[in-house]
Amino acid sequence: FVIPDFVGFVKDVEDIYWKCKSNTDGKVADYIPQLARYSPESWGVSICTIDGQRYSIGDVDIPFTLQSCSKPLTYAIALEKLGPNVVHSYVGQEPSGRNFNELVLDYNNKPHNPMINAGAILTCSLIHALIKPEMTMAEKFDYVMNWFKRLSGGDNIGFNNAVFLSEREAADRNYALGFYMRENKCYPKRTNLKEVMDFYFQCCSMETTCEAMSVIAATLANGGICPTTEEKIFRPEVVRDVLSIMHSCGTYDYSGQFAFKVGLPAKSGVSGGMMLVIPNVMGIFAWSPPLDQLGNSVRGVQFCEELVNVFNFHRYDNL
Ligand code: GLN
Repeated sequence: FVIPDFVGFVKDVEDIYWKCKSNTDGKVADYIPQLARYSPESWGVSICTIDGQRYSIGDVDIPFTLQSCSKPLTYAIALEKLGPNVVHSYVGQEPSGRNFNELVLDYNNKPHNPMINAGAILTCSLIHALIKPEMTMAEKFDYVMNWFKRLSGGDNIGFNNAVFLSEREAADRNYALGFYMRENKCYPKRTNLKEVMDFYFQCCSMETTCEAMSVIAATLANGGICPTTEEKIFRPEVVRDVLSIMHSCGTYDYSGQFAFKVGLPAKSGVSGGMMLVIPNVMGIFAWSPPLDQLGNSVRGVQFCEELVNVFNFHRYDNL
């Protein structure tokens, strides 16, 4: 086993869980009205090692929407199908140093990276116009959902229609980003922007649990092979690229501090999810809706920071 004393490890994780539970800072996102309905009390952590050891504590089977945690997954699909040269002729690899939904492009007039809204809308346009142009919208939805299901080892990935509708209703900024990118000729030919926006909102509104997400994180930790089904889903070079961008850009404008303090690839989402990947060891998913100023889950960030204080998982711990 990669974690020989799993029982001992889990004991420490449990202590960290309870420590974070008492932290009541932050505010549940309300710019998408349906997200405001989640309880600030909810707090769950699930772990899956690359050799399939599992542990969960707290609210690990309450469904929530993926939101930005879908971004590394759609990016991975694009890389798997198109390769890094094509994908990165449309989107950069640089942290934006701004909010996740900031109306800004880089000096090449491309979105800064695939982990913020502009970059993820762009990634969706690549799946839409380059990978599966022949598919109907319904088929594209199924196509992405199927990837997510396989990544989670066949776990039930759902869809929250109320969140989708609410998100689409309250999407002035995302539409602004979409049109701004069209003005700057960011998309591949034959892109139907209205369909791309719906597709992006649908990816954000896929619904899942901590348990399922920990398997997805573990698939990334395991170089693209799902640890529970042993299915090879992404090539290792794809996962390397995804983890590199998560490392530098995964937690919005906290990414630099996160890379410094935690030293691991992660991705946060506005529904309070935090996906943490410990390469070659395990995937962890923490979920708690209250967010800090920058849009990261307060308990999620605290959990990651406490974890590397106790264990030497930081990329540069073993020097
Ligand atoms: N669906 C959200 C949005 O587009 C995703 C953003 C996030 O999770 N930070 O605004």
